[in-house]
Amino acid sequence: MAAPKRVYLFAEGDKSMRDLLGGKGANLAEMTHIGLPVPPGFTITTETCNDYLETGEFPDGLWDQVLDALAKVEKDQGKTLGDPKDPLLFSVRSGSKFSMPGMMDTILNLGLNAESLAGIIEATGNARFAYDSYRRFIMMFSDVVLAEGRAELEKEAYEEILEEIKHRLGVELDTDIPTEGMKELVDRSLAHFEQHYGSAFPSDPKEQLRLSILAVFKSWNNPRAVIYRNKEKIDHKLGTAVNCQTMVFGNMGDDCGTGVAFTRNPATGERKIFGEFLRNAQGEDVVAGVRTPQSIDQLAEEFPAIYGEFEAVCNKLEDHYRDMQDIEFTIEKQRLYILQCRSGKRTGVAAVRTAVEMVNEGIISEQEALLRVAPESLEQLLHPRLTNPTNAKPIARGLNAGPGGAVGHVAFDSPAAIKMEAEGKPVILVRKITNPDDLGGMLASKGVLTSEGGRTSHAALVARQYGIPTICGCKDLRIDDASRTATVGGITLNEGDVISIDGTAGEVFNVALSTEPASMSGDFGVFMSWTDKYRKLGVRTNADTPEQSAEAVTFGAEGIGLCRTEHMFLGDRVEVVREMILSETDDDRKTALAKLLPLQREDFVGIFRAMDGKPVTIRLIDPPLHEFLPHAEEVRHELNALTQAGAPVAEIAAQAKLLAKVEDLHEQNPMLGLRGCRLSIVLPGITEMQVSAIIGAACEVKTAGIDVHPEIMIPLVGHVNELTYLQEILDRVARETMTAEGAEVDYQFGTMIEVPRAALTAAEIAQHASFFSFGTNDLTQMTFGISRDDAGKFLPEYVQMGILKGDPTESIDTTGVGRLMEICVREAREVNPKIKLGICGEHGGDPASVEFCHQIGLNYVSCSPKRVPVARLAAAQAALSEGKGSSRDK
Ligand code: ADP
Ligand code: MG
Ligand code: MG
Repeated sequence: MAAPKRVYLFAEGDKSMRDLLGGKGANLAEMTHIGLPVPPGFTITTETCNDYLETGEFPDGLWDQVLDALAKVEKDQGKTLGDPKDPLLFSVRSGSKFSMPGMMDTILNLGLNAESLAGIIEATGNARFAYDSYRRFIMMFSDVVLAEGRAELEKEAYEEILEEIKHRLGVELDTDIPTEGMKELVDRSLAHFEQHYGSAFPSDPKEQLRLSILAVFKSWNNPRAVIYRNKEKIDHKLGTAVNCQTMVFGNMGDDCGTGVAFTRNPATGERKIFGEFLRNAQGEDVVAGVRTPQSIDQLAEEFPAIYGEFEAVCNKLEDHYRDMQDIEFTIEKQRLYILQCRSGKRTGVAAVRTAVEMVNEGIISEQEALLRVAPESLEQLLHPRLTNPTNAKPIARGLNAGPGGAVGHVAFDSPAAIKMEAEGKPVILVRKITNPDDLGGMLASKGVLTSEGGRTSHAALVARQYGIPTICGCKDLRIDDASRTATVGGITLNEGDVISIDGTAGEVFNVALSTEPASMSGDFGVFMSWTDKYRKLGVRTNADTPEQSAEAVTFGAEGIGLCRTEHMFLGDRVEVVREMILSETDDDRKTALAKLLPLQREDFVGIFRAMDGKPVTIRLIDPPLHEFLPHAEEVRHELNALTQAGAPVAEIAAQAKLLAKVEDLHEQNPMLGLRGCRLSIVLPGITEMQVSAIIGAACEVKTAGIDVHPEIMIPLVGHVNELTYLQEILDRVARETMTAEGAEVDYQFGTMIEVPRAALTAAEIAQHASFFSFGTNDLTQMTFGISRDDAGKFLPEYVQMGILKGDPTESIDTTGVGRLMEICVREAREVNPKIKLGICGEHGGDPASVEFCHQIGLNYVSCSPKRVPVARLAAAQAALSEGKGSSRDK
């Protein structure tokens, strides 16, 4: 069987061949076709890499095809590889379908040896340049191809020799080293190599080429590359291509140089070439910080003709690819060469501006613009961002639970946070884990950092809901509550110390960085209006206060999908709530509830007004009652203290009673205990009060002339009888309230689908519900049998190891939990075609989950206010890529 075609000349490929030629190879081919000045070369296919990795043998036919392609390039250039007179040199470059740092470093100037070096000197008359190229080649080839973990053969060892020579010669910059110094560097590098490798540096140019190609193949499975692919969810089977390209030289003198540039500013999106270049330099000198590069604007001043040419290239590439490009170029003796182009990575701000401007410029359509922007990146437009101009290094990393940047003084508990905030200081709350008691402290803080807990832990939930920059599960951080310190590495943080956290990246800094406020630019609004034209899913918000509701509406929320009422019982109301819980008689309980009723009603009036006629789903009380009481430990401690201090008997008795109640309410497994509708059934008073408050508020608002649509949601239903039992009571309360208020409002009852049994019996439950809202946090927890507060200990490992493709608390587990949802949707619609179906779990703001919700035909998703734009865009993308596979494939 003849070997497959393994090698493509640049002239033979094109940009559609990324799978086979890798991104770099496909674009080099494409640029060759459209007439850009690309040094010629050829690309070895990704399939060939995979063949090699599978068999461990040099793939059949490869070498012949390489020699054949090489001969064609040589003929075209009128020079040959390794020629002792005027030789042709090559670069060997890796390049997979997706840009992937962590793979092999590029080898430049391949083909040099003692003879060809002499040839170059002869041909160019530039000995310094020749030695500079050779010393680079020796270092790169040793490091990349032959070192295999031996430090003496790695780049740093050669750089030491370079530094030593510079020091002795008293020069600061590489470019100041005279020819003699470069020659010495070459000689010493060769000797160093031989001493540590055990034989002389490989001098046969074809052998150099063969070994380099193999090294690129092997680099696909570098640990760095594997980790990167895991993180970015890139398929491990893609393999890398190998690009062999004739060299052009930016290191021949001051009329030469090398640089990188974007066709537009990747941070702001401004339409202006943005980049850097370095004179008399080669390869990665620009990014390696060998010398400080010059701004691309200086290129315009110093090489106006070249700059003009480069501008034309930028325009041509943008027109051709219809996207902002990231371009690598080299200038050899006043001649411009283009060495790479790809779509430029950009911030959310730049992504939106570029997309909108490209539509305005007639380059792309609205639909394309919508597909160009990563939904998650929109959040960057809403949060203050941390700026790190000096590139400070993080001291620790954790889960990026709440995006945005925050700078403030460390507080180790909520009272300290609240106190500091009252003193006018910005605060970062640092806790092992947060619980509902910490809400006040969290709201007083600019940012939250926890050492335990996952993406759906209490801290993360609050973070997203309230837009607090938050890092969770920062495992390396050791918090010592007793000494009120935290340590990480060798660093100790004391209460009051200033730290900065980047909740977008999950990074902690022990210095004060600064933040930039959110800006809602005009482009952003235009862009978001396009999402509404194409999406089919509605987007609601999870909001508990009028302020949040109003904010969400400005971000485009079409209703409230989840209003959690228990947050309304915290703060200064917790005393009344405790009074209610501790009541011994029904009458006492009624008295306490009567105090809560007007407060709750006021809350709902505010929310209904803010939502101005948009539907509002209110969930009745969900958490177990012990969450409103202090911890047993604390109460016991206090009781001891009171007893020892000889406090009045009544006070001691009250504390003892509290302890008894706390112990009485203690549950082994509160997540599966007396909560949700179970609590409402056992203790109907609270829910009756809540319904009365909701309907009363609705009547009041309606009477004031504002349209209102309350939807009352009963949590944690597992059996239809739970729903029908409660509905009868609550319907009665609603009717009584309306009669008392002398008004009629259009209200509905529905349920949260969060217990697997409820999903499986949708056909029964849907007969009694006007709406279902998937509570995917609990549904995932119960279907998977994973505790969301403990999952942080192993889920990240599972994902890293490839046991799970993704974290089910982050994106809906479509094959398990998602399947249950599909069954539920189908069976509910069969018995109740008009039933409204939504999702209000944390997944509602996750783009992949939104796409899934679109696919199974939900009516809406609901998410935290700042995620509303994310969900709107994700929904539009899901609609636009319908039938074309996911827009999110990697
Ligand atoms: P990366 O994928 O890390 O960007 P590249 O393969 O693009 O690596 O190579 C890095 C740099 O090496 C390029 O930006 C360019 O400066 C230099 N380089 C690569 N090939 C050549 C060549 N044929 N001539 C001159 N310089 C080259
Ligand atoms: Mg590159
Ligand atoms: Mg729940």
